Amino acid sequence: MTNGLLQGRFGFIFGVAHKSSLASAIARSLDQAGMRIALAYQSDRQLRNVEQLVGTLSQDDVPLVQCDVSDDAQIEKAFAVVGEAFGGRLDALVHSIAFANREDLSGGFWETSRQGYLLSQDISAYSLTALTREALPLFDESGGGSVMTLTYLGGERVIRNYNLMGVSKAALEMSVRYLAADLGSRNVRVNAISAGPVKTLSARGVAGFTGILDTMREQAPLRRNIEPSEVGSTAVFLASDLSSGITGEVIHVDAGYHILGN
Ligand code: NAP
Repeated sequence: MTNGLLQGRFGFIFGVAHKSSLASAIARSLDQAGMRIALAYQSDRQLRNVEQLVGTLSQDDVPLVQCDVSDDAQIEKAFAVVGEAFGGRLDALVHSIAFANREDLSGGFWETSRQGYLLSQDISAYSLTALTREALPLFDESGGGSVMTLTYLGGERVIRNYNLMGVSKAALEMSVRYLAADLGSRNVRVNAISAGPVKTLSARGVAGFTGILDTMREQAPLRRNIEPSEVGSTAVFLASDLSSGITGEVIHVDAGYHILGN
Protein backbone atom coordinates (compact mmCIF):
# COMPACT_ATOMS: atom_id res chain seq x y z
CA MET A 1 0.00 0.00 0.00
CA THR A 2 1.77 3.18 -1.10
CA ASN A 3 -1.13 5.66 -1.10
CA GLY A 4 -0.06 8.98 0.40
CA LEU A 5 3.53 7.89 1.07
CA LEU A 6 4.91 10.64 -1.17
CA GLN A 7 2.29 13.30 -0.44
CA GLY A 8 3.78 16.81 -0.57
CA ARG A 9 6.80 15.72 -2.61
CA PHE A 10 7.79 16.67 -6.14
CA GLY A 11 9.34 14.47 -8.83
CA PHE A 12 10.67 15.00 -12.35
CA ILE A 13 10.60 12.00 -14.70
CA PHE A 14 12.60 11.76 -17.94
CA GLY A 15 11.92 9.07 -20.56
CA VAL A 16 8.21 8.77 -21.26
CA ALA A 17 7.85 7.86 -24.94
CA HIS A 18 4.86 5.53 -24.88
CA LYS A 19 2.46 3.89 -22.43
CA SER A 20 4.81 0.87 -22.41
CA SER A 21 7.82 2.96 -21.26
CA LEU A 22 9.18 2.03 -17.85
CA ALA A 23 9.01 5.77 -17.11
CA SER A 24 5.21 5.57 -17.62
CA ALA A 25 4.94 2.77 -15.06
CA ILE A 26 7.06 4.82 -12.66
CA ALA A 27 4.89 7.90 -13.27
CA ARG A 28 1.74 5.90 -12.47
CA SER A 29 3.24 4.52 -9.25
CA LEU A 30 4.61 7.86 -8.01
CA ASP A 31 1.24 9.45 -8.82
CA GLN A 32 -0.60 6.77 -6.83
CA ALA A 33 1.75 7.39 -3.92
CA GLY A 34 0.73 11.07 -3.93
CA MET A 35 3.83 12.66 -5.48
CA ARG A 36 3.34 15.67 -7.75
CA ILE A 37 5.17 14.91 -10.97
CA ALA A 38 6.52 16.64 -14.06
CA LEU A 39 7.33 14.74 -17.26
CA ALA A 40 10.07 15.32 -19.84
CA TYR A 41 9.87 13.86 -23.34
CA GLN A 42 12.42 14.00 -26.11
CA SER A 43 10.53 15.50 -29.02
CA ASP A 44 7.09 16.60 -30.08
CA ARG A 45 6.55 13.17 -31.68
CA GLN A 46 5.94 11.84 -28.14
CA LEU A 47 3.69 14.64 -26.90
CA ARG A 48 0.42 12.82 -27.70
CA ASN A 49 1.55 9.69 -25.87
CA VAL A 50 2.66 11.77 -22.90
CA GLU A 51 -0.70 13.55 -22.82
CA GLN A 52 -2.48 10.18 -22.93
CA LEU A 53 -0.45 9.04 -19.92
CA VAL A 54 -1.34 12.22 -18.03
CA GLY A 55 -5.02 11.44 -18.72
CA THR A 56 -4.65 8.24 -16.66
CA LEU A 57 -3.11 9.98 -13.63
CA SER A 58 -4.93 11.33 -10.57
CA GLN A 59 -3.37 14.80 -10.99
CA ASP A 60 -4.16 16.98 -13.98
CA ASP A 61 -1.75 19.87 -13.56
CA VAL A 62 1.34 17.97 -14.76
CA PRO A 63 4.13 20.16 -16.20
CA LEU A 64 5.24 18.70 -19.56
CA VAL A 65 8.66 19.69 -20.87
CA GLN A 66 10.36 18.84 -24.13
CA CYS A 67 14.03 18.00 -23.51
CA ASP A 68 16.68 16.28 -25.58
CA VAL A 69 19.25 15.28 -22.96
CA SER A 70 22.15 15.60 -25.40
CA ASP A 71 21.62 19.39 -25.31
CA ASP A 72 22.72 21.26 -22.15
CA ALA A 73 20.62 24.32 -23.00
CA GLN A 74 17.45 22.19 -23.18
CA ILE A 75 18.30 20.56 -19.84
CA GLU A 76 18.79 23.95 -18.20
CA LYS A 77 15.47 25.19 -19.61
CA ALA A 78 13.62 22.05 -18.51
CA PHE A 79 14.72 22.44 -14.89
CA ALA A 80 13.92 26.16 -14.97
CA VAL A 81 10.34 25.36 -16.07
CA VAL A 82 9.90 22.63 -13.47
CA GLY A 83 11.55 24.66 -10.71
CA GLU A 84 9.08 27.46 -11.42
CA ALA A 85 6.11 25.06 -11.40
CA PHE A 86 7.19 23.37 -8.15
CA GLY A 87 8.08 26.49 -6.14
CA GLY A 88 11.84 26.03 -6.55
CA ARG A 89 12.05 22.56 -5.03
CA LEU A 90 12.35 18.95 -6.13
CA ASP A 91 12.53 15.67 -4.18
CA ALA A 92 13.06 13.01 -6.84
CA LEU A 93 14.64 12.74 -10.29
CA VAL A 94 13.94 9.72 -12.50
CA HIS A 95 16.33 9.06 -15.42
CA SER A 96 14.78 6.42 -17.69
CA ILE A 97 16.65 7.11 -20.91
CA ALA A 98 18.90 5.13 -23.20
CA PHE A 99 19.91 5.13 -26.84
CA ALA A 100 22.13 3.17 -29.21
CA ASN A 101 21.99 2.87 -32.97
CA ARG A 102 20.16 -0.30 -33.98
CA GLU A 103 23.25 -1.67 -35.78
CA ASP A 104 25.13 -1.55 -32.45
CA LEU A 105 22.61 -3.93 -30.81
CA SER A 106 23.38 -7.03 -32.85
CA GLY A 107 26.41 -8.87 -34.22
CA GLY A 108 29.81 -8.22 -32.66
CA PHE A 109 30.59 -5.48 -30.14
CA TRP A 110 34.01 -5.19 -31.82
CA GLU A 111 32.31 -3.63 -34.84
CA THR A 112 31.02 -0.61 -32.85
CA SER A 113 31.90 2.71 -34.50
CA ARG A 114 33.44 5.63 -32.60
CA GLN A 115 30.45 7.81 -33.46
CA GLY A 116 27.93 5.16 -32.29
CA TYR A 117 29.89 4.59 -29.06
CA LEU A 118 30.05 8.29 -28.17
CA LEU A 119 26.37 8.84 -28.98
CA SER A 120 25.26 5.98 -26.74
CA GLN A 121 27.52 7.02 -23.86
CA ASP A 122 26.33 10.61 -24.12
CA ILE A 123 22.59 9.86 -24.05
CA SER A 124 22.55 6.69 -21.93
CA ALA A 125 25.23 7.44 -19.32
CA TYR A 126 26.51 11.02 -19.28
CA SER A 127 22.99 12.47 -19.22
CA LEU A 128 22.50 11.14 -15.67
CA THR A 129 25.30 13.41 -14.45
CA ALA A 130 24.05 16.37 -16.50
CA LEU A 131 20.49 16.03 -15.15
CA THR A 132 21.61 15.45 -11.55
CA ARG A 133 23.81 18.56 -11.62
CA GLU A 134 20.91 20.69 -12.81
CA ALA A 135 18.60 19.23 -10.15
CA LEU A 136 20.94 20.07 -7.26
CA PRO A 137 19.73 23.62 -6.47
CA LEU A 138 16.14 22.32 -6.37
CA PHE A 139 17.14 19.37 -4.13
CA ASP A 140 18.92 21.81 -1.82
CA GLU A 141 15.64 23.71 -1.37
CA SER A 142 14.01 20.41 -0.34
CA GLY A 143 16.82 19.48 2.05
CA GLY A 144 17.91 16.57 -0.16
CA GLY A 145 16.71 14.38 -2.97
CA SER A 146 16.55 10.94 -4.52
CA VAL A 147 17.94 10.26 -8.00
CA MET A 148 17.20 6.98 -9.73
CA THR A 149 18.15 5.55 -13.09
CA LEU A 150 17.29 2.40 -15.03
CA THR A 151 19.90 -0.18 -15.89
CA TYR A 152 20.10 -3.80 -17.05
CA LEU A 153 22.12 -6.93 -16.28
CA GLY A 154 23.93 -6.48 -19.61
CA GLY A 155 25.95 -3.75 -17.87
CA GLU A 156 27.42 -6.36 -15.49
CA ARG A 157 27.67 -9.44 -17.71
CA VAL A 158 27.91 -10.16 -21.39
CA ILE A 159 24.43 -10.67 -22.82
CA ARG A 160 24.21 -11.53 -26.49
CA ASN A 161 23.37 -8.56 -28.74
CA TYR A 162 23.16 -6.07 -25.83
CA ASN A 163 26.68 -5.08 -26.86
CA LEU A 164 27.25 -1.31 -26.80
CA MET A 165 24.29 -0.72 -24.47
CA GLY A 166 25.97 -3.02 -21.92
CA VAL A 167 29.08 -0.85 -22.01
CA SER A 168 26.94 2.28 -21.60
CA LYS A 169 25.11 0.69 -18.66
CA ALA A 170 28.44 -0.15 -16.99
CA ALA A 171 29.37 3.55 -17.24
CA LEU A 172 25.92 4.50 -15.97
CA GLU A 173 26.19 2.21 -12.92
CA MET A 174 29.63 3.56 -12.07
CA SER A 175 28.27 7.11 -12.47
CA VAL A 176 25.63 6.18 -9.87
CA ARG A 177 28.39 5.28 -7.39
CA TYR A 178 30.52 8.37 -8.00
CA LEU A 179 27.49 10.66 -7.84
CA ALA A 180 26.34 8.96 -4.63
CA ALA A 181 29.77 9.49 -3.08
CA ASP A 182 29.88 13.15 -4.11
CA LEU A 183 26.35 14.11 -3.15
CA GLY A 184 25.63 12.16 0.03
CA SER A 185 26.79 15.11 2.13
CA ARG A 186 23.94 17.15 0.56
CA ASN A 187 21.47 14.39 1.50
CA VAL A 188 21.10 13.44 -2.17
CA ARG A 189 20.86 9.68 -2.74
CA VAL A 190 21.63 8.12 -6.13
CA ASN A 191 20.56 4.58 -7.02
CA ALA A 192 19.81 2.39 -10.01
CA ILE A 193 17.02 -0.09 -10.69
CA SER A 194 18.28 -3.02 -12.75
CA ALA A 195 15.06 -4.16 -14.41
CA GLY A 196 14.42 -7.51 -15.98
CA PRO A 197 13.41 -7.45 -19.65
CA VAL A 198 10.13 -5.68 -20.46
CA LYS A 199 8.75 -5.23 -23.98
CA THR A 200 9.11 -1.48 -24.68
CA LEU A 201 10.01 0.53 -27.79
CA SER A 202 13.73 0.54 -26.89
CA ALA A 203 13.79 -3.14 -25.95
CA ARG A 204 12.50 -4.09 -29.40
CA GLY A 205 15.71 -2.61 -30.82
CA VAL A 206 17.81 -5.36 -29.18
CA ALA A 207 18.15 -8.30 -31.59
CA GLY A 208 16.55 -11.49 -30.21
CA PHE A 209 14.72 -9.68 -27.40
CA THR A 210 11.82 -12.18 -27.33
CA GLY A 211 14.34 -14.95 -26.63
CA ILE A 212 15.67 -12.95 -23.65
CA LEU A 213 12.12 -12.71 -22.25
CA ASP A 214 11.55 -16.47 -22.76
CA THR A 215 14.84 -17.43 -21.06
CA MET A 216 14.07 -15.30 -18.04
CA ARG A 217 10.54 -16.71 -17.69
CA GLU A 218 11.91 -20.26 -17.81
CA GLN A 219 14.98 -19.81 -15.59
CA ALA A 220 14.48 -16.92 -13.12
CA PRO A 221 13.97 -18.04 -9.51
CA LEU A 222 10.41 -16.66 -9.60
CA ARG A 223 9.81 -18.43 -13.00
CA ARG A 224 8.22 -15.40 -14.60
CA ASN A 225 8.92 -12.07 -16.22
CA ILE A 226 8.53 -8.90 -14.21
CA GLU A 227 5.61 -6.47 -14.38
CA PRO A 228 6.42 -2.80 -15.16
CA SER A 229 4.44 -1.92 -12.01
CA GLU A 230 7.13 -3.75 -9.98
CA VAL A 231 9.68 -1.25 -11.31
CA GLY A 232 7.18 1.49 -10.38
CA SER A 233 6.82 0.32 -6.80
CA THR A 234 10.61 0.12 -6.42
CA ALA A 235 10.76 3.72 -7.63
CA VAL A 236 8.25 4.68 -4.92
CA PHE A 237 10.48 2.95 -2.34
CA LEU A 238 13.57 4.78 -3.61
CA ALA A 239 11.76 8.14 -3.63
CA SER A 240 10.50 7.63 -0.09
CA ASP A 241 12.07 7.74 3.37
CA LEU A 242 11.74 3.94 3.48
CA SER A 243 15.04 3.86 1.54
CA SER A 244 16.70 6.71 3.48
CA GLY A 245 19.80 4.62 4.26
CA ILE A 246 20.37 3.42 0.69
CA THR A 247 22.63 5.15 -1.84
CA GLY A 248 25.03 4.05 -4.58
CA GLU A 249 23.05 0.83 -4.91
CA VAL A 250 21.88 -1.18 -7.92
CA ILE A 251 18.61 -2.89 -7.00
CA HIS A 252 17.69 -5.81 -9.24
CA VAL A 253 13.99 -6.03 -10.05
CA ASP A 254 14.35 -9.10 -12.24
CA ALA A 255 12.56 -12.01 -10.52
CA GLY A 256 15.99 -13.01 -9.18
CA TYR A 257 17.52 -13.80 -12.57
CA HIS A 258 20.84 -12.06 -11.77
CA ILE A 259 21.79 -14.57 -9.07
CA LEU A 260 22.05 -17.45 -11.54
CA GLY A 261 25.43 -18.72 -12.66
CA ASN A 262 24.28 -20.08 -16.02
P1 NAP B 1 11.50 3.47 -23.94
O1 NAP B 1 10.08 3.55 -23.62
O2 NAP B 1 11.89 3.47 -25.39
O3 NAP B 1 12.27 4.62 -23.15
C1 NAP B 1 13.55 5.11 -23.55
C2 NAP B 1 13.45 6.59 -23.48
O4 NAP B 1 14.70 7.24 -23.75
C3 NAP B 1 12.46 7.13 -24.50
O5 NAP B 1 11.57 8.00 -23.86
C4 NAP B 1 13.36 7.87 -25.45
O6 NAP B 1 12.72 8.90 -26.18
C5 NAP B 1 14.37 8.41 -24.47
N1 NAP B 1 15.50 9.03 -25.15
C6 NAP B 1 16.34 8.51 -26.07
N2 NAP B 1 17.19 9.45 -26.49
C7 NAP B 1 16.88 10.60 -25.80
C8 NAP B 1 17.41 11.92 -25.81
N3 NAP B 1 18.43 12.29 -26.59
N4 NAP B 1 16.83 12.83 -24.97
C9 NAP B 1 15.79 12.51 -24.18
N5 NAP B 1 15.25 11.28 -24.14
C10 NAP B 1 15.80 10.34 -24.96
O7 NAP B 1 12.16 2.15 -23.33
P2 NAP B 1 12.32 1.64 -21.82
O8 NAP B 1 12.58 0.19 -21.95
O9 NAP B 1 11.23 2.15 -21.00
O10 NAP B 1 13.70 2.30 -21.38
C11 NAP B 1 13.83 3.13 -20.24
C12 NAP B 1 15.11 2.80 -19.50
O11 NAP B 1 14.97 1.49 -18.93
C13 NAP B 1 16.35 2.74 -20.39
O12 NAP B 1 17.45 3.25 -19.67
C14 NAP B 1 16.51 1.26 -20.61
O13 NAP B 1 17.84 0.90 -20.95
C15 NAP B 1 16.13 0.76 -19.24
N6 NAP B 1 15.83 -0.68 -19.14
C16 NAP B 1 14.89 -1.24 -19.95
C17 NAP B 1 14.63 -2.60 -19.85
C18 NAP B 1 13.63 -3.26 -20.76
O14 NAP B 1 13.67 -4.48 -20.91
N7 NAP B 1 12.70 -2.53 -21.35
C19 NAP B 1 15.32 -3.38 -18.91
C20 NAP B 1 16.25 -2.77 -18.08
C21 NAP B 1 16.51 -1.41 -18.21
P3 NAP B 1 12.44 8.62 -27.75
O15 NAP B 1 11.49 7.49 -27.84
O16 NAP B 1 11.89 9.91 -28.20
O17 NAP B 1 13.75 8.30 -28.38
